[in-house]
Amino acid sequence: MTIFTKIINREIPANRVYEDDHTLAFHDVDPQAPIHILVIPKKEVKDFQSCDSETIGYLLSAAQAVAKKLKLDESGYRVVINNGKDAGQEVAHLHLHILGGAKLGHIRHQDRTRKD
Ligand code: 5GP
Repeated sequence: MTIFTKIINREIPANRVYEDDHTLAFHDVDPQAPIHILVIPKKEVKDFQSCDSETIGYLLSAAQAVAKKLKLDESGYRVVINNGKDAGQEVAHLHLHILGGAKLGHIRHQDRTRKD
């Protein structure tokens, strides 16, 4: 069981912003932008690559609802999914990052060692 399942089960606290039958959204504990929300499926899915399309649809719809609720829909926001170790995925429970509340910088290559 990951820390996110414990958040779903209310075994550990989180600052929740949105919930429906299939998803939960809450503030990231270590925000990388003025607004940084995580959207997760309630069912245990370890990463994006192994996720079924129905669940992906629920997550994307929830991300739209969160953006609207937090008034990011007009100012803009970024949705990020880290999948696997090269992307730095830390928690093995699929999550979308919603980043906004300021003009965000572009993500650039810092390391070009990988050629494939
Ligand atoms: P990843 O690097 O796996 O894409 O992102 C995991 C995210 O989960 C990180 O941004 C991290 O700050 C956040 N996180 C890890 N543990 C907790 C927690 O217990 N509560 C909350 N709200 N966020 C967490």
